[in-house]
Amino acid sequence: RRAHYAALKNKPSITKDGVDITLLHNSGLVADLPMLDDTGALGVGLFRTELQFMIASRLPRLPEQMQLYAEAMEIAGDRPVVFRLLDIGGDKVLPYLRSAQEENPAMGYRSIRLGLDRPGLLRTQIRALLMAANGRPLKILVPMVTETFEFLQTRMVVQKEIERLRRAGKPTPSRLELGAMVEVPSLLFELDQLLPEADFVSIGSNDLVQFLTASDRANPRVSKNYDPIALPRLRAIRMVVEAAKRYNIPITMCGELAGKPLEALALMAIGMTRLSMGPASIGPIKEMVLNLELKPIQQSVGAALSEGADGVTIRELLKEWIDKQN
Ligand code: PEP
Ligand code: MG
Repeated sequence: RRAHYAALKNKPSITKDGVDITLLHNSGLVADLPMLDDTGALGVGLFRTELQFMIASRLPRLPEQMQLYAEAMEIAGDRPVVFRLLDIGGDKVLPYLRSAQEENPAMGYRSIRLGLDRPGLLRTQIRALLMAANGRPLKILVPMVTETFEFLQTRMVVQKEIERLRRAGKPTPSRLELGAMVEVPSLLFELDQLLPEADFVSIGSNDLVQFLTASDRANPRVSKNYDPIALPRLRAIRMVVEAAKRYNIPITMCGELAGKPLEALALMAIGMTRLSMGPASIGPIKEMVLNLELKPIQQSVGAALSEGADGVTIRELLKEWIDKQN
């Protein structure tokens, strides 16, 4: 299998009917990055910067953060890396960061909420990213955006740091793109405010599905009861995909769904063409893409989404397609 997938790595991932599907890695440590050469992925769609913080025994300082980001960019070379700002809190606890006991940490003081409330932490990270870029293009992703103003506030912090570098005569990124994660359901109903402000968006299906279904992603007793590609969830995802197309901004799926064949098929069927996943999923997903006639699946899933699927689930419908192909 491994040799088989390795043989696919230089093939462009295009469906039989000519739809280009961009495959990217989820990553978070420098050790993951050389894997880009093994899988042939086009870049890193999600670099989880909190990993460095989680394995450390104290808060990583600016030079340490900068070194990690610079190394990641170095190894990626021309391939883009999307650095997600710290997503700590919730299930990602830092033992050395004092935090109050919370009844619902996933919905608590976490991620960009914490970042904007303690701007020292956020400023340091943004400064480290800008300095690591050292004049190269830079992509930054904001996690857990709940309201557009949080995204705008983050943009202001970035802007201030760029001006600070400029005043000091240091190089600033040749191009800076700031993106928002869509993983809090409220944002689905504010896309017309958010999208004109964002350079790109990325859907985090792990949190989005957790919050849409009010089922803890870490608790299989509840989460396994709700199919993430059932009609209501897939409609929600399609809403974001279509809005991003209207505003002509790139959209990626970076949650776990993107790396599972059937789920990835559902995503492609609703027009998602950028998928970010664990490196081990690239081979299997690429193989599926190369053998795929996407148009008829798009039509059949599209019909199911608008008319309801007559007792058949999207999952069953897609399984039938896959069985027909084999
Ligand atoms: C997600 O929520 O889907 C996501 C990609 O982020 P994380 O799993 O790190 O919360
Ligand atoms: Mg998330």
